[in-house]
Amino acid sequence: MQLLSMQSITEDQAIENYVAYMKRANPKRSNMIFDSKSMKWRNKLPKEKHTKKKSPERSKMESSFNRIRPQILNRDGNKCTECGSEKRLNVHHIVKRSEGGDNSRDNLVTLCYKCHTNKHIHDGVYSLMASLV
Ligand SMILES: [Zn+2]
Ligand SMILES: [Zn+2]
Repeated sequence: MQLLSMQSITEDQAIENYVAYMKRANPKRSNMIFDSKSMKWRNKLPKEKHTKKKSPERSKMESSFNRIRPQILNRDGNKCTECGSEKRLNVHHIVKRSEGGDNSRDNLVTLCYKCHTNKHIHDGVYSLMASLV
């Protein structure tokens, strides 16, 4: 009986069964795609993940920030505006993005990592990480 049903299913069905079985056996696989051409598991494209996670406004913010970032560093002479250090420079949002701050030159300032951390000392580690783009 078992043998008969094995023989009567198509290759596609066999792969489908295999994929379903593997996903049940290993929950990590539920985020993966089985490519039946190469017979390999691969991660879903990171691009897809990104577009799903990030809102369009957020990625627009990030690309405009990445564009203006070198200009801010340049304007501030590649130095921390608080202590003058030239090491580990970050560009800081004076008004936080989460509070409506934008990527305009007036809202951005160059700070070294140390001074930047001080600015975010009350924000918790996650918002500091998020701000270190
Ligand atoms: Zn900051
Ligand atoms: Zn500094």
